[in-house]
Amino acid sequence: MLGRVRAGVLEHGTVELLDRAGVAGRLHAEGLVHDGIELRFDGERHRIDFRALAGHGVTVYGQTEVTRDLMDARAASGAITIYEAQAVSLHDFDRASPKVRYVKDGIDHEIACDFIAGCDGFHGVSRASVPAGAVQAFERVHPFGWLGLMVEQPPVSDELIYASHERGFALCSMRSRHRSRYYVQVPSDERVEDWSDARFWDELRRRLDEETAERLLTGPALEKSIAPLRSFVAEPMRLGRLFLAGDAAHIVPPTGAKGLNLAMGDVGLLCAALAEFYGEKSQAGIDAYSARALARVWAAERFSWWMTSLLHRPPGMDGFARRIQRAEFDHLRSSQAAARSLAESYTGAFGVAGVTG
Ligand SMILES: Cc1cc2nc3c(=O)[nH]c(=O)nc-3n(C[C@H](O)[C@H](O)[C@H](O)COP(=O)(O)OP(=O)(O)OC[C@H]3O[C@@H](n4cnc5c(N)ncnc54)[C@H](O)[C@@H]3O)c2cc1C
Repeated sequence: MLGRVRAGVLEHGTVELLDRAGVAGRLHAEGLVHDGIELRFDGERHRIDFRALAGHGVTVYGQTEVTRDLMDARAASGAITIYEAQAVSLHDFDRASPKVRYVKDGIDHEIACDFIAGCDGFHGVSRASVPAGAVQAFERVHPFGWLGLMVEQPPVSDELIYASHERGFALCSMRSRHRSRYYVQVPSDERVEDWSDARFWDELRRRLDEETAERLLTGPALEKSIAPLRSFVAEPMRLGRLFLAGDAAHIVPPTGAKGLNLAMGDVGLLCAALAEFYGEKSQAGIDAYSARALARVWAAERFSWWMTSLLHRPPGMDGFARRIQRAEFDHLRSSQAAARSLAESYTGAFGVAGVTG
């Protein structure tokens, strides 16, 4: 799990949550605080100033680093973590005493639980264990993906650049001052083997303005992969004593940088609900978990869908649709209210801060 390259943008509420959990030391030392992003439309530039418009920035700190910090903190706490469990299965979460069974080193094990937190990602066993019909799924599969490349070079810009171009979307992102992450939109059926590093850099340069393309520092890919773009929500997020959290319950296209932040928000909510259950003997937080989480999830789904529609070029896009995108970009440039709406959503005005504060 530390080998996977994914999220990098943390909302201020996510940082606050990690602060409260006492695991943000390295994040503050090594994370990069960004006060805005750059939008590009066919080479024209417009900066969205988060600090001025929403009062907060975001922090760029890789998801693998967050995971490492959490694993270290858990090990230091002395709590038991079981890695490499096989054949994990969930039982009796519709009753008072649910169980998790797994096999480790050829031996069967069973954990007796009060509750099960299903935080095992989109392909995990938690959602798959729910009887058919008990959850309702809402889904949009977007007809394109992101081809991403990681390189050991300083980023082309201090802030993220989101570029909409006739040839498709491009994103210039980063993990640190020395490591950059770049993406180009590709058709859903594209194969990563067909993309040499040289082809990737050529395509990225074509989608950027001339000045940025010239400054771009390239190199061999440390990692290269294609991520599909999907919007998905499973309702409800609580089934008896099983709680779904993070990608197990919902997926957003990465354009709005919301997935990890939503997962953190769910866990923040769940943690508060369980503390209330054990501390105050109250079931209120647990009963409210699904509805409260879903309100935030749908807000993030809307924003991620909107950012995706604004910046990508779907197959068969016609002149009308492209001109609507242009008008949307001009609206963001001319209306402070429109720019503020983007800034609030991106930095997490609807995010975890509200649920844990
Ligand atoms: C290209 C890309 C860019 C992204 N950028 C951003 C961004 O900038 N900001 C952002 O907020 N989000 C971003 N995301 C989304 C983000 O990565 C996910 O939303 C986030 O990882 C969800 O966390 P999770 O813990 O719910 O699921 P996961 O990260 O999928 O973790 C689930 C874990 O459960 C484990 N697991 C599965 N099954 C079992 C089992 N049976 N037993 C034990 N363990 C199991 C898995 O091994 C895995 O470690 C991006 C995603 C992609 C693809």
